[in-house]
Amino acid sequence: MKRVYRAATLPDVAHARNLLTAAGIPSEIRNQFLAGAAGDLPMFETWPQLLVDEIDEARALGVLRRAQRPVEGEAWTCRRCGERLEPQFTACWRCGMEADAPAR
Ligand SMILES: [Zn+2]
Repeated sequence: MKRVYRAATLPDVAHARNLLTAAGIPSEIRNQFLAGAAGDLPMFETWPQLLVDEIDEARALGVLRRAQRPVEGEAWTCRRCGERLEPQFTACWRCGMEADAPAR
């Protein structure tokens, strides 16, 4: 397994996982219950993280990279399925639809 994403909070990691799932890439969350319970470990090591099979690593990183943009902006609503999405994501986690022209 290869780590492709990690974040301080589980919802961020869960969202990233949903993006991969929408793209057809199986993934697995680690550390989801460890955060805050890990004494001497470096903080990053206790963060929830997302892992994929080695063969899917490049594609997963591509999906996540395309989904990232500056956090400023407004939440948007998917045109296809109506899901409400945070501004840092450019693709809908539910159906994979990309936000082409985000409203500002
Ligand atoms: Zn959608």
